[in-house]
Amino acid sequence: MARERMTLAELFRRHGVDPKTLPQAPASPPDSEVRTRITQAPFQPCAACGEDSATVRVRDFGDGPRWVDLCWEHGWATVEPAPRMPTTLEGILADVGEVAAELGLTLRPVSPEELLESARRVMLQRGSRFHLIASADGQPRLHGWSKDEPTARERFTVRVGKSRGLPGARVILIDEAERELLAVWPDPE
Ligand SMILES: [Zn+2]
Repeated sequence: MARERMTLAELFRRHGVDPKTLPQAPASPPDSEVRTRITQAPFQPCAACGEDSATVRVRDFGDGPRWVDLCWEHGWATVEPAPRMPTTLEGILADVGEVAAELGLTLRPVSPEELLESARRVMLQRGSRFHLIASADGQPRLHGWSKDEPTARERFTVRVGKSRGLPGARVILIDEAERELLAVWPDPE
């Protein structure tokens, strides 16, 4: 089963979010303001789940522009490939000057691999180098990012505990700075 995609409206409905409670935003914030919002602590909470956000976009829900801060998972779930690509994806992009310009000029579709690479760069920039990926049936279901290795390994252990018995479950921990695989469950034979 592919990762579920949904609209922002659907995401908000599921999480009981009233868009009118989201922070007000400028109509067309400059790239620098967008980049600052996603790369500098304290990070904005995800509008849906409250985790640290890794993405942001500006949307008008009928009463003026609002910041829509979303974590990596929820940002990814609501990606809207559209002609306004730079506005849609600004929060996922680590280097707005380089990547958004490229996207904006060419308007090419963005693959999951490109999104993941962009997220990797954002998280490294923010000091989160340890990337936990829990998969089921060969599909990544959950991404977690940690700043230090002990925390990352603790989360790995917890996630393995929750994954036992799930069909096709697999949990890996990657040091994204070194692109090194630190832990794998189940143990490769
Ligand atoms: Zn979230």
